[in-house]
Amino acid sequence: MSGTRVRFAPSPTGPLHIGGLRTALFNYLFARKTGGTFILRIEDTDQTRYVPGAEDYIIESLKWCGINPDEGVGVGGSFEPYRQSERKEIYREYAGRLVDSGDAYFAFDTPEELDSRRKEAEASKSVFTYDAATRMEMRNSLSLSLEETLHLIESGAPYVIRFRFDPGDAVVMQDIIRGEVSVDPATLDDKILFKSDGMPTYHLANVVDDHLMRITHVIRGEEWLPSLPLHVSLYKAFGWKGSMPQFAHLPLILKPNGQGKLSKRDGDKGGFPVFPLEWKDPFSGEISSGYRESGYFPEACLNILALLGWNSGTEQEIFTLEELEQAFDLSRVGKAGAKFDPEKARWFNHQYLQQKPVAELAELYKPILREKGIQASDAFIQQVVEMIRERAHFVSDLWEQSGFFFIAPTSYDPEVVKKRWKEDTAGLMTELIKILEGIDPFDAETIGENVKSEIHDRGWNMGAVMNAWRLLMVGTSMGPSLPDLAAILGREETLDRIRKGIETLK
Ligand code: GLU
Repeated sequence: MSGTRVRFAPSPTGPLHIGGLRTALFNYLFARKTGGTFILRIEDTDQTRYVPGAEDYIIESLKWCGINPDEGVGVGGSFEPYRQSERKEIYREYAGRLVDSGDAYFAFDTPEELDSRRKEAEASKSVFTYDAATRMEMRNSLSLSLEETLHLIESGAPYVIRFRFDPGDAVVMQDIIRGEVSVDPATLDDKILFKSDGMPTYHLANVVDDHLMRITHVIRGEEWLPSLPLHVSLYKAFGWKGSMPQFAHLPLILKPNGQGKLSKRDGDKGGFPVFPLEWKDPFSGEISSGYRESGYFPEACLNILALLGWNSGTEQEIFTLEELEQAFDLSRVGKAGAKFDPEKARWFNHQYLQQKPVAELAELYKPILREKGIQASDAFIQQVVEMIRERAHFVSDLWEQSGFFFIAPTSYDPEVVKKRWKEDTAGLMTELIKILEGIDPFDAETIGENVKSEIHDRGWNMGAVMNAWRLLMVGTSMGPSLPDLAAILGREETLDRIRKGIETLK
């Protein structure tokens, strides 16, 4: 293994969005490509946003896709624990270090006090920020005397620890994908690092853990870019600048029309999932659809995600996970948002469905057939699947495309009947029975050739015969080539269907 160490660090605040799964994938691919280590760390220090079941959901999603962590929650490793709520004491200690070095301070302002400052600012059409300009007007260990501070702490007054962010600190930074990024120092404030509930905020825990877990590359979503100056400043304040990880902020995944970030609502509206697995909200009971339950193959899902923001620089679009592991490179990740195309997603699944071994598809189809009360031999199911898979995007499409192989029509599409069933059709079909009775061997090729030449010799209209024949075989105007269908069904079933059709429609 090389020295690269990357982590996927989701917060269990709900189901994992496909954007999050893509972050996991890119971290995983980077680790595989560089021979490094991929770590799963659960960032669950925000108790107000904790959602039961979300951590299991994340783990199951990764497992479904085959993105297996080398270290982390559920796997173990030499930097345990990997769940931040089990590392509380560590963060307390590191927050204390920053207070000792003067890089952080205790702040005792009550929610009411802060609120009144905000309102005052609003009244004069400005925004209150707790920063270098205002901190000395607030109640904190910088503005209060040492005695007052100690007294407040000893008397159990609630406090937070804030980072002392001084403008001019880290405002120009390097990002692997974006190059140099700079941030307007006016937007930077004294962020809370440690909360009154004894838990660190995301920023402190994230930086401390990335350092302690020897993370070499932080690969995460673009929404974390605004936090980068604070993180870089924290590395400096801790004296860890020399071993700071490199950063790569991935582009957003955009709505199909490119207008803004892809959201759950877009999925609901457009009828496509934005979550890897189905999710039932534990509070509202609301169900959100998942790629797995919608019939996507995990390989297709990964392939879709891989090309959202990354390209191989070639025409190739279909990649196995192994191929991605070889081809992936952060230098080919773009900074522009990547539009999600639901049709393209379906296309990928269609491609994977065409590539699956037919025996595997037949196995996946069997439960659907069983549910319909249908019994058929493996060989028959496989032949059917082979014949119609081209028309299917999902295993669940197979029935619509092939139900007529298993069940003879019990009714006939009235539209088609109107169009195709004429006065002389019953007579033609009776003749067709005779032709089919004489065909030997009863295979697709022989049936095709014989029927065609008979129709030709008798001067019949090819379309009239074939369309009517299809109606009797299938009940509608759809289906595969008739000789193929007849050969699979066999002579007896084929003739039965024609006879029954004549009987019903004459
Ligand atoms: N816990 C953060 C999240 O939920 C992690 C961000 C990061 O990777 O630094 O996305």
